[in-house]
Amino acid sequence: MHPNPTDLARAALLKITEQGLPPTPENYSRFYHVLAGNTGAAPPDHAAVTNCGAVLTIIRDMLGEVTERTGGLASNIQKQNQTIKSSLDDLTQAQEKKHVLELLDTILTTTSSIHSTVEDAHLDLAATKMALEHVKAELQESRQMMQEDWLTGAQNRRAMDHVLGKEVARAQRSATKLSVAMLDIDHFKHVNDEFGHDAGDKLLQHLTLITKSVLRESDSLVRYGGEEFLIILPETDIKGCEFVMGRLQQAFLNNPMQYEGKPIPVTFSAGLARLKPDENGHAMVMRADTALYEAKQAGRNCVKIAAE
Ligand code: GH3
Ligand code: MG
Ligand code: MG
Repeated sequence: MHPNPTDLARAALLKITEQGLPPTPENYSRFYHVLAGNTGAAPPDHAAVTNCGAVLTIIRDMLGEVTERTGGLASNIQKQNQTIKSSLDDLTQAQEKKHVLELLDTILTTTSSIHSTVEDAHLDLAATKMALEHVKAELQESRQMMQEDWLTGAQNRRAMDHVLGKEVARAQRSATKLSVAMLDIDHFKHVNDEFGHDAGDKLLQHLTLITKSVLRESDSLVRYGGEEFLIILPETDIKGCEFVMGRLQQAFLNNPMQYEGKPIPVTFSAGLARLKPDENGHAMVMRADTALYEAKQAGRNCVKIAAE
């Protein structure tokens, strides 16, 4: 018999939960195909696009089944309606009490059969809806995970490529300004060496939190490398970018990270660049990086603007 896709999706979810695995599209796909008895090697972990394709196949199967069920339900109810209608017609003609009772029996049986058909379908559809909602939530989560740096929750380089591409195109199309700031924590290695790697990790999270609090909703914060962050500021010129950096330096100064009850004072250096006409995002980021290098050379804890 052809396996029921909804049951398979549900069983796959259960297996993932039982084994304490993250409910990623990859794991869905793997368990779904094992449970479905599909042969062939499991797809490799990095084949995210293929695996998303597999999850879409699951969803398509589930929706196909919903369509089949609702179609079946409609024709089933139509048949039973027909039975009731003809019993009612007969009832108006019936003379004998025995015949009337038989017809009423048929009507009652058919009515309760419709009731249980609808109830079964209702339960099935509710289960399918739940399974679909689960798949949607997990997909949203894994999509978010694919774009976020796991330690800080800032955006990662993959997300950066997407945001930069979009913002550069927008700035060029609408002749608006776009600026970036490349930021690097000063003497970060010293924090790791003096307080431990855990303190270093916490400092990266602290910087992310403080930075997000001074940025606008439309700005982006990317973890560019170890202790290097890129801030993307749409519709902002160099003056605006400098202003944001000043505010960030102030916020960082006023809120040093507390580690084991003690504040760890740290500073950062930054290089700023504004998008030139006909420049691409990568070139602008490289100019900001050069300006960051100049800020380090100038003694750190300062901001330098890239030459245009
Ligand atoms: P500078 O002022 O010139 O930027 O000096 P720095 O010490 O900040 O820079 P350096 O490049 O010498 O050292 C960066 C250190 O960041 C080295 C590396 O071990 C550490 N690092 C990179 N990623 C992480 C991380 O995720 N967590 C922690 N705790 N440390 C990290
Ligand atoms: Mg550094
Ligand atoms: Mg660095």
